[in-house]
Amino acid sequence: MNASATPQEFSALQRSERQAQVVQGLSAHLPAYALLWNSEDTTPYECDGLTAYRQRPLVVALPENEAQVQAVLKTCYALAVPVVARGAGTGLSGGAMPHQMGVTLSLARFNRILKLDPVARTAVVQCGVRNLAISEAAAPLGLYYAPDPSSQIACTIGGNVAENSGGVHCLKYGLTLHNIVKIKGFTMEGAPVVFGSDALDTPGYDLMSIMIGSEGMLAVVTEVTVKLIPKPMTAAVEDYVHAGYDLSAAAILLCESDGTPDEVEEEIGRMSAVLLASGATKLAVSRDEGERLKFWSGRKNAFPASGRISPDYMCMDSTIPRKRVADILLAIQEMEKKYQLRCANVFHAGDGNLHPLILFDANDPDQLHRCELFGADILETSVAMGGTVTGEHGVGVEKLNSMCVQFSAAENEQMFGVKRAFDTKGLLNPGKVIPTLQRCAEYGKMLVRGGQLKHPDLPRF
Ligand SMILES: Cc1cc2nc3c(=O)[nH]c(=O)nc-3n(C[C@H](O)[C@H](O)[C@H](O)COP(=O)(O)OP(=O)(O)OC[C@H]3O[C@@H](n4cnc5c(N)ncnc54)[C@H](O)[C@@H]3O)c2cc1C
Repeated sequence: MNASATPQEFSALQRSERQAQVVQGLSAHLPAYALLWNSEDTTPYECDGLTAYRQRPLVVALPENEAQVQAVLKTCYALAVPVVARGAGTGLSGGAMPHQMGVTLSLARFNRILKLDPVARTAVVQCGVRNLAISEAAAPLGLYYAPDPSSQIACTIGGNVAENSGGVHCLKYGLTLHNIVKIKGFTMEGAPVVFGSDALDTPGYDLMSIMIGSEGMLAVVTEVTVKLIPKPMTAAVEDYVHAGYDLSAAAILLCESDGTPDEVEEEIGRMSAVLLASGATKLAVSRDEGERLKFWSGRKNAFPASGRISPDYMCMDSTIPRKRVADILLAIQEMEKKYQLRCANVFHAGDGNLHPLILFDANDPDQLHRCELFGADILETSVAMGGTVTGEHGVGVEKLNSMCVQFSAAENEQMFGVKRAFDTKGLLNPGKVIPTLQRCAEYGKMLVRGGQLKHPDLPRF
């Protein structure tokens, strides 16, 4: 966990004058019920799933159609007002955290499934459609959308595209990136853009790959064409070590196999042999759908369950090479002692994506501080082990400092260059994802090693 972006201070008068100007500009394009600016209306938008950081937006706009999205963007561009796109607000890195002087552009009303094509095995959906709703709509056709974040009941496909979200199916079927063929949207200037195509490939640079995972920094997505795949004929789960969530278990590993009955049987045989040879003490295989769901329920409910044992938890998200899983677990054990905080480890071990849940009490500033240091330590240890500071939750504001550890100043400048190519004035979701050189220098000051301060020539603030 890193410190949040340092907000610039604006006076109450500056804020209310700007608010009046923005409301007046947007009122020309949106009905009154689609614009919120009173604090009791904007407070529900003040954070995403990273609740430690909050900021009320200047204005919330809730457009209902593409013409309105375009008009909001054009107006904000003309007024030089920052815009933060928002799906369901389930993000865990502060990506949808509002800008103090900006418009939060809620895409909640873009919730229609426009087309299901069983022959092409695709679905065309508006950006605010919930992830699970796609699979529910495709189920009568024997199809489903594979990427399945644990938040799939609430999170939107637009948010999934922005974060390149993953889930338990992603080891086999890939992330959001591998399951999308086309994206439509608008740039900050209000220009319509299309990335990808109805076919599986497009000529020219693969700009859709830049869009997916860009955390709302390059364009606002309004429509997504997703791939659908046939629902598996058979699914099975193995629950290793102390099956049945024995509280004395050192670790529990869930493996899912899908395919034809023969494929599944053969795969379970191979998995069993590897795991027993590796010292698994107990192994259980689900025999029906109910048991499969029961095995998964512990993993799917791990986050809310943590809320029963701690007033707050910070969910981290980094990735390491799979072979380093044991090393990182041992390192986190040491960090628990160092920072005097407990940590529940919930991983996607298959793809090396870690979600350590650091347990703390947000009412205690010292615990919050220790939690931030603990989180940053996990991220930076992951980088040292050959991994990355994010797996699927994005950088947002949460991991800005750790980006300084992962990337050089030149690499960060190249990322700013990509952003400028799409967003010349830097108005779309500013202050997120890419750290400034000054910020890295400031963080470097905190991380003085061997008495050497990084970038000593830069001004401190
Ligand atoms: C309990 C829980 C479990 C979770 N499990 C997983 C998991 O298993 N895997 C996983 O990957 N994530 C998981 N998440 C994180 C989160 O659900 C995902 O990041 C999700 O994709 C966010 O979708 P959203 O609609 O809520 O987006 P938001 O939180 O609203 O926004 C996320 C980012 O996307 C941008 N954005 C949103 N919509 C658009 C748009 N239309 N155009 C441009 N930018 C946009 C925002 O600006 C922001 O930067 C979990 C979260 C919770 C709370």
